[in-house]
Amino acid sequence: MPEPIRTQVVVLGAGPGGYSAAFRAADLGLSVTLVEREQRLGGVCLNVGCIPSKALLHVAKVIDEAAHTPGVGFGKPKVDLDGVRDQKDKVVKRLTDGLGGLARQRKVKVVYGSARFGGANSLQVDTADGALEVQFEHAIVATGSTPARIPGLPDDPRVMDSTGALALEDIPGKLLVIGGGYIGLEMATVYRALGSTVSVVEFMDGLLPGADADLVKPLAKRLSGQFADIRLKTKVTGVAAQKQGLKVTFEGPDGTADQVYDRVLVAVGRRPNGKDLGLEALGVQVDERGFIAVDAQRRTAVPSIFAIGDVAGEPMLAHKAVHEGKVAAEVIAGHKAAFQPLAIPAVVFTDPEIAWAGLTEAQAKKDGVAYEKAVFPWAANGRSLTLGRDEGLTKILFEPASRRVLGVGITGPGAGDLIAEGVLAIEMGADAEDLALTIHPHPTLSETLGMTAEVFDGSVTDIIAPKR
Ligand code: NAD
Repeated sequence: MPEPIRTQVVVLGAGPGGYSAAFRAADLGLSVTLVEREQRLGGVCLNVGCIPSKALLHVAKVIDEAAHTPGVGFGKPKVDLDGVRDQKDKVVKRLTDGLGGLARQRKVKVVYGSARFGGANSLQVDTADGALEVQFEHAIVATGSTPARIPGLPDDPRVMDSTGALALEDIPGKLLVIGGGYIGLEMATVYRALGSTVSVVEFMDGLLPGADADLVKPLAKRLSGQFADIRLKTKVTGVAAQKQGLKVTFEGPDGTADQVYDRVLVAVGRRPNGKDLGLEALGVQVDERGFIAVDAQRRTAVPSIFAIGDVAGEPMLAHKAVHEGKVAAEVIAGHKAAFQPLAIPAVVFTDPEIAWAGLTEAQAKKDGVAYEKAVFPWAANGRSLTLGRDEGLTKILFEPASRRVLGVGITGPGAGDLIAEGVLAIEMGADAEDLALTIHPHPTLSETLGMTAEVFDGSVTDIIAPKR
């Protein structure tokens, strides 16, 4: 074995959480080694997740808007799949190359290989050039998550996970998406726009089971006009690989049924990568799903080892991982830091987008939290109508006594950007007046946030406020 690498901090995994942790630690003066098992930085999010999916969703949006702009006709789009794929790959390459540059400038040592803990201060890494040891003072585990599988599905290239779907090998005539969550609906949106006939099957009684039903309703309505079918409360009991397609058997409220598809996308959640790292033997708690138990500082039961991101618990979202990564780096550098957000925004980049932050109504009802709700329909927002859209809504949940913002939910084009104001309102302890008296620019979709607060305090003039 070569001489061990000695480092103050080793970070396992170079996704958004891992590279942010590594860069922050380096900026705080620590020597840092970043270990990544793929031959590229950026993790799932940059390479086979958030970023490539958004590049493809942009194409879907252009196709849809061109087809639905009143008074303008473009004809049927000609999709050059190689061109679409190239543009997506270029965006990814630009970002991952950028990360390489940022690592070099910070003198973060990058090691490509698969790591396993040998002790509370030692890591064994299998690289293409053989095994090596990294001796560290502190480790940050940021190994992310992997697509969940449905047992019993055939090993057939036509059965894809999100990575396969983003590879965009062809445009299947008939695509079945298993799972009506974030990934399923985003990729269904892409393939539908590119020309596939899309069907979705979801186990629960509604799409996006984690989001409030009133936010999902406008999306479900739009999608039901775009997709061939949406089967709810239905599970897939079998997929048989046949020459002419994949024969899928469903079991739902109306009994069992069969359908043949050209491709199937499995998007039924993700599993944390906390197992097989040798952590349990050191005394780190890893639950049976693979989540690593951590405290507010993101420290595990072994004081030298921290964990952040998907592997450290829900929600499995890049922006949560980034903030946790910075907390872990700061704690290791001796700062007083803790991961204690009041709200972590969630965004589904469908059309319309759905975004929410803080308390949801479903959660409030489950936990018996008292709240009052105000809703502003986008049908009364000028900017929304100019976009040819009137189905959106903005809703805010307030604490009845203090009138503080507890939660915000938005459905409509651009909801993912608009939710940032809601997150800030929750973090700053804003109340209804703070939002209502903030002058929002006209004509914009952001006005719906101020006007929702006006609905709550009765001062709204753009609609007749419901009596409270
Ligand atoms: P998800 O949990 O959002 O959705 C999975 C869906 O599949 C759920 O609705 C679930 O009820 C359903 N399901 C589970 N088993 C099923 C079965 N056998 N048959 C039919 N339906 C079944 O998971 P995902 O969409 O795979 O995404 C994984 C993770 O990736 C999410 O937790 C999310 O945090 C992250 N992600 C985020 C974004 C974003 O922020 N825009 C986008 C993509 C992924």
